[in-house]
Amino acid sequence: MKEIVSGIFHIPSVSEPLSSDVFIVEGEKRFYVFDVGTGDAAYEAVAGLDKPATVILSHFHQDHTGNMTRLSPAEVLCGARTRKHLGQGTPVENVTEISDGVLIRVQPCVSPHAPGCLIMTVNDACTFLGDLCYARPGTGQGEAKGMYRVLKRMKTEYFIQSHRTEDLLQGKETVLREIKDYFGI
Ligand SMILES: [Zn+2]
Repeated sequence: MKEIVSGIFHIPSVSEPLSSDVFIVEGEKRFYVFDVGTGDAAYEAVAGLDKPATVILSHFHQDHTGNMTRLSPAEVLCGARTRKHLGQGTPVENVTEISDGVLIRVQPCVSPHAPGCLIMTVNDACTFLGDLCYARPGTGQGEAKGMYRVLKRMKTEYFIQSHRTEDLLQGKETVLREIKDYFGI
């Protein structure tokens, strides 16, 4: 587990078997865990936390949620689609703020990748996107336009996307430009 920004820890994604990145933010009373992955390294990191955990799930895909079958966090925040898939969790329908020594903001965002995605911003500086921006070429342009509008308005410095092997912290403008280019908007 590596500290990528003060108080934010990272367990990298794994490709075989596919497991998403896991990000752990330390608050005063709790840890805030963005996605839980499927692999043992991710499981052990989350299960071993010494404060209660609030888990935020970016979307329902197995590589981001698989370890939920063996974890029992104090709280799970997710989209309605993820709640249906898992049979647990509190659906987040509006911007939800948590102040716990860190400022956590969780909000739904339209996505060309999957229905019911959530994104999480820490201290108005780092926004975790999960797989939000990923889509097969030529698909999802309508959703991408809506997503672009939401992301452009965000108060943040960095966007952090899952499944990247380098340049984890991407500047907001860089990612906005990539979205425009990729989706042709
Ligand atoms: Zn996905």
